[in-house]
Amino acid sequence: MSQPQTITLLGATGSIGSSTLDIVARHPDRYRLYAVSGYQRIKELAEICHRFCPAYAVVPDEASAEHLRTEIADLKTEVLVGSSALGQVAEASEVDIVVAAIVGAAGLLPALAAVKAGKRILLANKEALVMSGQLFMDEVKRSGAELLPIDSEHNAIFQCLPAQGTHFDQESLPASGVHQILLTASGGPFRGFSSDQLAQVTPEQAVAHPNWSMGQKISVDSASLMNKGLELIEACWLFSVKPEAIQVVVHPQSIIHSMVAYNDGSVIAQMGNPDMRTPIAYGLAWPERIDAGVKALDLFQVAQLNFEPADEVAFPCLALARQAFTLGGTAPAILNAANEVAVQAFLDHQIGFEQIPELCRYALDSIAVEPADSLEVVLASDRKAREISLPYLEHLSMHRVKAQ
Ligand code: NAD
Ligand code: MG
Repeated sequence: MSQPQTITLLGATGSIGSSTLDIVARHPDRYRLYAVSGYQRIKELAEICHRFCPAYAVVPDEASAEHLRTEIADLKTEVLVGSSALGQVAEASEVDIVVAAIVGAAGLLPALAAVKAGKRILLANKEALVMSGQLFMDEVKRSGAELLPIDSEHNAIFQCLPAQGTHFDQESLPASGVHQILLTASGGPFRGFSSDQLAQVTPEQAVAHPNWSMGQKISVDSASLMNKGLELIEACWLFSVKPEAIQVVVHPQSIIHSMVAYNDGSVIAQMGNPDMRTPIAYGLAWPERIDAGVKALDLFQVAQLNFEPADEVAFPCLALARQAFTLGGTAPAILNAANEVAVQAFLDHQIGFEQIPELCRYALDSIAVEPADSLEVVLASDRKAREISLPYLEHLSMHRVKAQ
């Protein structure tokens, strides 16, 4: 290979960020960091800058910028501030690949900037696609961007489909003889819990995922099955299918990362140890394969693979997500925003775990769904959902105190 490819890593200080850095460090001949971003943990961002010497580092405010500039005074890295700078480093002409690994709605604008600029985008930030799926995919089509999912399930589905490039329309999967997508879920730390048991769980228990080590927000989403709901919506947009074409399969070992069932009865699964470096390396090198530093799968040690249906009664978030996607328009953006507020309130011990779906349902029921035909409309729905969620949190938290 001649020149290394240049990467903008949005969310470099996070869990996906650090897995990406690990792969970049293994392949200095192939990849070079152009820009990194971090929201907190400025000291860690400084360490990343020292290790990789990117041209730019983006932080949220002037205070963080001052801090970072002091820490990296010996480097040529330029420190940029604010969300517009995130967009700037995502669309810069020097950049080949953008890894979208910011958590939540905050990642939408820079991910979209990368799409508009026609980059290869490694999408971890599923919330961006959930919020604005139609706009996002329309832009991908228009710009010719290469959208490669690095959410492990979607990466697995992509790997189980016939090689056909990164663009899928409604005809693609039926024309390939696909019968169904089998979206696997670990079931999270509370698999098998009853509704009563779920009302007693703590944030500390919720973030202790049995198989994956991830950021706090996605860990809570995995525990509530909202993550699977968001992933169902993500899969519908990425592969241009309806929710009915996707079956959620709880598979506690997280060795199979998802499957594709074909009309002839074949089911193709992608397997591996649960390590996000596999899908990230795949997205970076596609259609080639590179070393990701992942331990080889020892099937004798795994010994068993189990499967069960998801409990949609004790875990209502999955059905809520399906409902939001079916409602269409701004409904998924409303759901996503309410969920972000609810997860933060749960992590702050303000509401109970079982109240997360309650807040989401309240937001979905209270805000009129509109066609999501512009970014402004999507962002306004996101704002509205946050606005009405905050006072309702008070109500939920009082209700919880009374109940205890
Ligand atoms: P994380 O919390 O570990 O990291 C999030 C990153 O986003 C950090 O760098 C943080 O500084 C940055 N950030 C947070 N708030 C921000 C804001 N308001 N503006 C700008 N930057 C902000 O999260 P993670 O686990 O790495 O997940 C990142 C994304 O990837 C999420 O959308 C998640 O759903 C998705 N994802 C993660 C995993 C995983 O294994 N961790 C797997 C699949 C998908
Ligand atoms: Mg996933």
